[in-house]
Amino acid sequence: MSRLLEVADVSKAFGGNQVLTSVSFTLEKGEILGLLGPNGSGKSTLLNTISGFTRPDGGSITFDGRSIASQPSHRIIQAGIARTFQLPVMPEKMSVMEVVMTAGTRQHGLFNGLLGLASGRKAEQEDRARARELLDILLLTKVKDLPAAALSGGQKKLLGIACALMGKPTLLMLDEPMAGVHPKLRQELVETLVNLSHQGISLLVIEHDMHFINTLCQRCIVLDRGQIVASCRPDELAQNQQVLEAYLGH
Ligand code: ADP
Ligand code: MG
Repeated sequence: MSRLLEVADVSKAFGGNQVLTSVSFTLEKGEILGLLGPNGSGKSTLLNTISGFTRPDGGSITFDGRSIASQPSHRIIQAGIARTFQLPVMPEKMSVMEVVMTAGTRQHGLFNGLLGLASGRKAEQEDRARARELLDILLLTKVKDLPAAALSGGQKKLLGIACALMGKPTLLMLDEPMAGVHPKLRQELVETLVNLSHQGISLLVIEHDMHFINTLCQRCIVLDRGQIVASCRPDELAQNQQVLEAYLGH
């Protein structure tokens, strides 16, 4: 395996609140890495710093051999990192299909599309085909013409994943993908993510659902009050003293 992402000594404070303290970890190409930790331990903030939504105070982030810590989020998306949000926010009046298409347009060639250039039309056709395929994979085909507002919380999460995949990322970061997803859909979501991984997409997944973590992840890192306290296989978590302390209090 070779290294895809290297986070080294990343720190972040909001006012006097030190949320991340010298966080370091690596993610190998093809890996499915779990990111665990109690509420408020800094998991979403860590995803925000990697994806360029929050600027770290210090430290370095290297993706595919390039430094991305000072890059704006659209550049990081172009470099191949996509993410979903813990609480997805959708343009609710658009149809599900339109939301996915808009995600594609944002990522390559809005101006080509607007100018009606041949390349723009071709890109739009390709986007539409890819959007259909993704809606199918994410079990959203039957709701593709409904307004995004009509979706359940879980379906909005699946739509967030479809949008993230429109840019053909090599690293997909998911913030609590299972929360709110109907139990019947969960196994299918796990299978979908395994398939993505087989297609060469690496995954960094924040999740509390231990069945999900055990089934999907090869390795986990655990945050406790902004510090990485463990890096181990999922089956080793229950015996890890630092992990128990993180969850049971100090
Ligand atoms: P987790 O995802 O592990 O539950 P978060 O990263 O969401 O944790 O939050 C960690 C801490 O950072 C919390 O104390 C939260 O209030 C704080 N925090 C997160 N984002 C911001 C922000 N934009 N401004 C101020 N404080 C923030
Ligand atoms: Mg969070």
